[in-house]
Amino acid sequence: MQRITIAKGDGIGPEIMDATLEIIKAAGAKLEYDEIEVGEKVYLSGNTSGIAKESWETIIKNKVFLKAPITTPQGGGYKSLNVTTRKFLGLYSNVRPCLSLYPFVATKHPKMDIVIIRENEEDLYAGIEHQQTDEVVQCLKIISRPGCEKIVRYAFEYAKVYGRKKVTCFTKDNIMKQTDGLFHQVFDEIAIEYPEIENEHWIIDIGAAKMSDTPEAFDVIVTLNLYGDVISDIAAQIAGSVGLAGSANIGEECAMFEAIHGSAPRRAGQNMANPSGLLQGAVMMLNHLGQNTIATKVQNAWLKTLEDGIHTYDIYDEKQSKLLVGTKEFAAAVIANLEQKPTTLPAVNYENGQALNLPKYKKRPQAKKELIGHDVFVHWNGTDANELASMLSKIGTPNLKLNMITNRGIKVWPEGFSQTFCTDHWRCRFKTEEGKVINKEEIIILLQQCIQNKIDTIKVENLYQFDGKMAFSLGQGQ
Ligand code: NAD
Repeated sequence: MQRITIAKGDGIGPEIMDATLEIIKAAGAKLEYDEIEVGEKVYLSGNTSGIAKESWETIIKNKVFLKAPITTPQGGGYKSLNVTTRKFLGLYSNVRPCLSLYPFVATKHPKMDIVIIRENEEDLYAGIEHQQTDEVVQCLKIISRPGCEKIVRYAFEYAKVYGRKKVTCFTKDNIMKQTDGLFHQVFDEIAIEYPEIENEHWIIDIGAAKMSDTPEAFDVIVTLNLYGDVISDIAAQIAGSVGLAGSANIGEECAMFEAIHGSAPRRAGQNMANPSGLLQGAVMMLNHLGQNTIATKVQNAWLKTLEDGIHTYDIYDEKQSKLLVGTKEFAAAVIANLEQKPTTLPAVNYENGQALNLPKYKKRPQAKKELIGHDVFVHWNGTDANELASMLSKIGTPNLKLNMITNRGIKVWPEGFSQTFCTDHWRCRFKTEEGKVINKEEIIILLQQCIQNKIDTIKVENLYQFDGKMAFSLGQGQ
């Protein structure tokens, strides 16, 4: 027996959780449950995180969490429980299979069978945002080598264990050479360790377009957090089955499994909801727990039930469906099919799948890090960069000279274009001569000079080289 934590959530949550538990129990899942309360009631009791401290203890003790959707009350500073759970528990990998069930569920893409593996903790979702000037706000895009290595390795291990042929990486590294560039570089490094699995990289924009048009060209897709968030919803939708998809959030110690849809409050308490999304989450959970035989049995019974045309209202269609059923009747039909396999849709076999065995991240030796300049960000209301450059001419040290000014990343001095639109947010780059290394005291001198000359500095970003390699971007047009 394995002990897991469950939360029945809000809206349709309790009904779809009961149906899911009934099906996996009938299939022989060896599970015991600790139930916790999360969501609306907890939020409205004044706890803005939507979960009590004791519930965290239960989740951490059991390590595996099956969660029904919850309702996040509007306004009031309530934090998304999903985002908090992913980050607190280090659930770095979000796995979302998007499978078309044609002809039983309508879709324009009958052959689609993609698994999207999305980095779940970093990127713009670190939520580090600041207003810096009247006109400009910023959000930091944080990408780490451990973050990239963990998710890329997860994608290749997933492909290996589940017999997938290809892993595709989506980034925008033609523009974001440092952040997306690191993700792509790590992908190339790790791909070499899996010669039996094909690998490729697409720029996200054209890759997403291709995926929406010809999804059968892809197998496993691994990508950064924001891109993964967007493309996994698109992929689930074009598979014809947003209401049928589940997702897994996997960390080094803990894991959370859920449906991708919300709590659909208008459908609550009417025995109408489709339990398939949560059931798909539960199938991934059974595989994660090593109960692969049970997972295989449940998945094949579910496919057979859909094939039989036994459909809840959300996928009911007069042409393909045979019987309109409620949540309970759908669960009973899946249970009745537990020894069956689909005949048109491909049957699954997870029997030989072992749990993914991922090594812990190993820190690399530190590189030689040398300081060669500073980007000083300035709030200034003028419009002519030459004027700002002349104000900044009084600033500098024997080592550091003004090298460039950009506005929203575009070089405006020296030799800017008068057509370039400028905001009140200026990046002023002070750099040493080629190869000359300085120490941090020079920042203090620069900032003191700025104060004396009434230059409103917002922040300083250090310019480094790592092992002699420049580790910052050039200005656009530089
Ligand atoms: P939703 O996914 O709950 O519902 C959208 C529509 O899809 C519903 O009107 C319903 O018709 C249909 N639907 C969804 N799931 C269904 C199912 N299993 N069976 C049949 N029909 C289904 O999205 P929403 O209305 O935007 O959000 C409602 C609440 O859910 C909000 O409070 C939101 O914050 C929350 N939410 C929670 C999660 C989560 O807990 N993981 C995810 C998304 C939204």
